[in-house]
Amino acid sequence: TAADASALVDRLTAVVADFPQPGILFRDITPVFADAEAFSVVCAALSEPFDGSFAAVAGIEARGFALAGGIGAQTGTGVLTVRKAGKLPGEVLSESYALEYGEATIELRPGQLPRGSRVLVVDDVLATGGTAEASITLLERAGYEVVGVAVLLELDGLAGRDRLASRVPVHALASAP
Ligand code: AMP
Repeated sequence: TAADASALVDRLTAVVADFPQPGILFRDITPVFADAEAFSVVCAALSEPFDGSFAAVAGIEARGFALAGGIGAQTGTGVLTVRKAGKLPGEVLSESYALEYGEATIELRPGQLPRGSRVLVVDDVLATGGTAEASITLLERAGYEVVGVAVLLELDGLAGRDRLASRVPVHALASAP
């Protein structure tokens, strides 16, 4: 259930101070992937509000890939990979966005699904929402309809949800300060 999934994320997520740089409180969700039952339960709970409404799951590199694979296998849908710049061969769409310090670029290979296909975006942690917002833009530029963004954990106070909510529904299993 959703309550079980939320409790598993809370219990298994490791909080690491000053990683990858001083001042960042890093949420390491990889123990959720390592636990067979937890992984299955959280994948099911992530997609549950959207089940039946999407043809593919787009995972955001890198931890989003594991979740997208699990959800794709459970729901019988395909997987798209939203990648960091320079990883995908051939034709790509690129989207750059501001980070707290500097800029990042992510890429998507277009033409893998019919235009109009419905896609669910998944990632581990929603912080400022910049990465998820750029992912939505990329998928829309490829002609897809984004049905929502689902994350294991949303960080309060960074307004990630506000940033996305005008575009798509946001589903988070747990939240942290
Ligand atoms: P943002 O674009 O600010 O929403 O950042 C989201 C991306 O950065 C996600 O792919 C997360 O994996 C990662 N991220 C940002 N902040 C954290 C954090 N405190 N702990 C773990 N991952 C984070």
